[in-house]
Amino acid sequence: MSTTPRPDSAALTPRNVSALLQDTTPWLSCDECFERMDSYAEALVHDPTYRDKAMAAHLRGCAACDEEAESLLRLLDGG
Ligand SMILES: [Zn+2]
Repeated sequence: MSTTPRPDSAALTPRNVSALLQDTTPWLSCDECFERMDSYAEALVHDPTYRDKAMAAHLRGCAACDEEAESLLRLLDGG
């Protein structure tokens, strides 16, 4: 019964790292947000620890994209 907790570094997948390297601006336009929406939602479904600061920042401030992302996540999660 000895389960070692997963270290925080588990979030550092190659995908996350490349995303971090690409994101130089904290804010996205809605167009950019929509372009990333698919891969963002997929990454989030496959890895709940996935974080995309730029997307998260935009979704926090934009109800339209936030709703879009949530319905997409529900779709991917349920399918
Ligand atoms: Zn938006």
